[in-house]
Amino acid sequence: MSARAGGVATAWAEEGLEALKARGLRRYLEPLDSAQGPLVRLGGETLVNFASNDYLGLAASPTVRAAAAAALEVYGVGSGASRLVVGDTSAHQRLEARLAAFERAEAVLLFNSGYAANVGTLQALVGPGDVVFSDALNHASLIDGCRLSRARTVVYPHSDVEALERALVSTPARRRLVVTDTVFSMDGDLAPLHDIVQVCQAHGAALLVDEAHATGVLGERGAGLCEALGLEGSVDVRMGTLSKSLGGLGAYIAASRPVVDFVLQRARPLVYSTALPAALCAAAEAAVDIVERDDALRARLWRNIHRFSTGLRALGFAVEPRSAVFPVIVGEPERAVAASQALRSRGLLVKAIRPPTVPEGTSRLRFCLSAAHTEGQIDLALAALRALNL
Ligand SMILES: *Cc1c(COP(=O)(O)O)cnc(C)c1O
Repeated sequence: MSARAGGVATAWAEEGLEALKARGLRRYLEPLDSAQGPLVRLGGETLVNFASNDYLGLAASPTVRAAAAAALEVYGVGSGASRLVVGDTSAHQRLEARLAAFERAEAVLLFNSGYAANVGTLQALVGPGDVVFSDALNHASLIDGCRLSRARTVVYPHSDVEALERALVSTPARRRLVVTDTVFSMDGDLAPLHDIVQVCQAHGAALLVDEAHATGVLGERGAGLCEALGLEGSVDVRMGTLSKSLGGLGAYIAASRPVVDFVLQRARPLVYSTALPAALCAAAEAAVDIVERDDALRARLWRNIHRFSTGLRALGFAVEPRSAVFPVIVGEPERAVAASQALRSRGLLVKAIRPPTVPEGTSRLRFCLSAAHTEGQIDLALAALRALNL
């Protein structure tokens, strides 16, 4: 048996865990015994997976696996150092060129995760004396990027462009940057991006958008909401992840060459962290090829989105088919956990999302759809929700 270390931190931790438990907010790990996919093995059971952001089913794709395996043979596992030291490879360079073509961008810069991309880009672009205007429901990584940048942060009410404009008018600064998710991760709704672009242009502010849940899902080629709205050329920085629709790990920003070159100099998560393994770069390159070429996959995802949305509306939930994310809001954390457990007993893996991930009183079941779900699996979820009578 290993000895228990340091009593002081242990006391802090025990106190914290008790407080979380009392509020129904303690969380636990649940290890899978399978790859991601519409069916997963968990605790000896096979469950239909509605919790994964693997929207196109590419995490376990044979083509993507083969690309990763081939690169693993050439480059090994670890990358040895940060990219600016000796961790850069031709696989990183190829992926950046491939992503730039996909995003119709002048340049692309890879990061180890979407979290690192948001934190690093914000911290590189703005600093003390500058102002960031941030949607109230932005992802935690954008919020943390604001903190690390030490710029002043003005939070505007969710998707309220008039409030954003008022804030821009009343907050002069040397540099002003507006940041927003394009698909909001816990609600699945879309940012009013046309209007946000207009307001940014009218007031000389830069715009950074987070396409984490839009890449692979929205746009004719799957490049996200900017592509769907024809706004690729009107947004200063577009961030996308390799970890959701692209089925791997890592992220990128698409921007002008000077922005990419400058962020590479300054972003602490890039400069002070070991590079993404080349095998993950090769996997992402194969995944982008599939996303761009195979629109049957996206069509299948959207058929599932429409089927689920129609079914939810028939059950009385006010949802719209806007993305692959569907919140079913139940209120208190304990209710969300009980509903999630009831769905589990019917063979469905659906996660309860609680504060601080979502605001108090809006604990929810979060359903994520995939192109890999069958119609039968979608209908199973709808039948289970009907039986739950939420
Ligand atoms: C998942 C997510 C991220 C973080 O991406 P990772 O690659 O998982 O680190 C950033 N922004 C949003 C909106 C996300 O949903």
